[in-house]
Amino acid sequence: MIRELHNKLINKEITSVELTQQYFDAISKKDGDVHAYLTLTKEEALEQAKKVDEKISRGEEIGIIEGIPCAIKDNICIKNIRTTASSKILDNYIAPYDATVVEKIREAGAVILGKTNLDEFAMGSSTETSAYGATKNPYDNERVPGGTSGGSAAAVSADMAVWSLGSDTGGSIRQPASFCGVVGLKPTYGRVSRYGLMAMASSFDQIGPMTKTVEDTAIILSIISGKDNMDATSAPDFGKKYEDYLTGEIKGMKIGIVKEYLESLNKEMKTEMEKVIERYKKLGAEICEIELPNAKYALPTYYIIQPSEVSSNLARFDGIKYGMRADDKEKTNTADLGGLPRTLLETYLDTRKYNLGAEVKRRIMLGTYALSSGYYDAYYLRAQKVRTLIRKDFEKAFQKVDVILTPTTPTPAFKIGEKTQDPLQMYLEDIFTITANIAGIPAVSVPCGMIEWEGKQLPAGFQLMGKWFDEENLLCVAHAFEVNCTE
Ligand code: GLN
Repeated sequence: MIRELHNKLINKEITSVELTQQYFDAISKKDGDVHAYLTLTKEEALEQAKKVDEKISRGEEIGIIEGIPCAIKDNICIKNIRTTASSKILDNYIAPYDATVVEKIREAGAVILGKTNLDEFAMGSSTETSAYGATKNPYDNERVPGGTSGGSAAAVSADMAVWSLGSDTGGSIRQPASFCGVVGLKPTYGRVSRYGLMAMASSFDQIGPMTKTVEDTAIILSIISGKDNMDATSAPDFGKKYEDYLTGEIKGMKIGIVKEYLESLNKEMKTEMEKVIERYKKLGAEICEIELPNAKYALPTYYIIQPSEVSSNLARFDGIKYGMRADDKEKTNTADLGGLPRTLLETYLDTRKYNLGAEVKRRIMLGTYALSSGYYDAYYLRAQKVRTLIRKDFEKAFQKVDVILTPTTPTPAFKIGEKTQDPLQMYLEDIFTITANIAGIPAVSVPCGMIEWEGKQLPAGFQLMGKWFDEENLLCVAHAFEVNCTE
């Protein structure tokens, strides 16, 4: 899709301003229902589009994403633009700098349409914990788009952006991608700089592309990846062009499957997965059974380490350094204050009490508990040890296979409100995606068609996980399915 639009631009079949305007028209038409966007940056977008058009009319060459409209998740900083992470605590926060990924896509000439909705601070699986209201699934407005990058997924799915950026800590790119019928990649930990991504759980977080096709994901990855001096965990990628590896040829490649994963599925998802496996066999891949014996501990491991990192990372939102401060209407105990100014401690407490949502508070409390003296060894340290075991499972599996195929989610999109009262049900959404974050490996969700679910036709996706820093083979296998799936 990106390549097609790029060709239209250089052949002067459309201008970037026209293209950008078309997308804003689509947003005005559809986003009232979907609510994918929190902020639109129309003026800046049209200005950038105009610059690209001038370049084209001067006969200058343009890059592959130059002049093409995209959307950015609202936990990624764009200089001088409101960046809320969907939290009331950052309601008034204007980012003073560009995230490295934003700097890179700006250099590449992308047109940024706006910022997209997410679960508050990227905690959730449905975009319902946003302080600014839920995003709806474009296929069925009564259902969630998935989360936490639900706004980014819905924007691409409903043609309100050509591509978008999301972030993924436990599945937040892949799960919404599968619910909305788009491609979503969580790169290897370190493949993409996290500088300017609001830190949630720093040892899991990665930024990645959400697109209509695997080729588009490869194109975006080539632009945003690489070593960044501002992020010590980022790794060099030597200017790799991931799109060059999409040969369509996967004969002899070994694809691992986990029997228990498939057996745990409902009938509809299982049938879909079997079709995907058949397709890969036809394409000449070898399907091998593998074991991930410690994967069953992935969810509890994540839900100890992740809140621990959250409790530390979110300590900075205290009403002093960033964003909102509790105002005088918001007092824990009005009578106690008796007209006196708050103490510093009261400012901290009230600011956090009134401006953070329930899920965020729950994680901060869980994490604080897991890290507290006396419990640290029993919870946090033990979870870190299990994390190593899970990583070792993957090391072993990847001696045998090139990629691992799993479902992305246990079911298609669920209804709005269905899981909000039961955090554990919500956490179970991450069951297939979370291991990739724990091990740090790359993983992509690829659409595999529509399935009949609760009387509706809804998109389904499958997940491929790859070896560390082997996005080229991972995307090659994903792409081979995509280009052959209509046969
Ligand atoms: N659902 C997971 C959580 O709530 C993952 C979120 C994410 O990937 N940002 O933590």
